[in-house]
Amino acid sequence: MPTYSYIAENPEEGCLRCRRGFDLRRPMDREPLTHCPLCRKPVKKMVTGFSTPKYTKPVSVSDAKKAGFTILEKRCDGNYEKL
Ligand SMILES: [Zn+2]
Repeated sequence: MPTYSYIAENPEEGCLRCRRGFDLRRPMDREPLTHCPLCRKPVKKMVTGFSTPKYTKPVSVSDAKKAGFTILEKRCDGNYEKL
């Protein structure tokens, strides 16, 4: 079940929970929450950061070799040399 983060649309009007934002587990097929379950003020879904890294670490030749890859390097004469 995905967890959604909600925050009050007007933080001054919201209760303690929605003023600072709260997480709610909700089934995917349910309507998105529009009002705080505690104070009934309008809330909006927060965009939370994804935990996926922004870039993948470049794999070094030795790491790739350890992982069983064969590294081929193009040589200036057009042939590939097996490292
Ligand atoms: Zn509230």
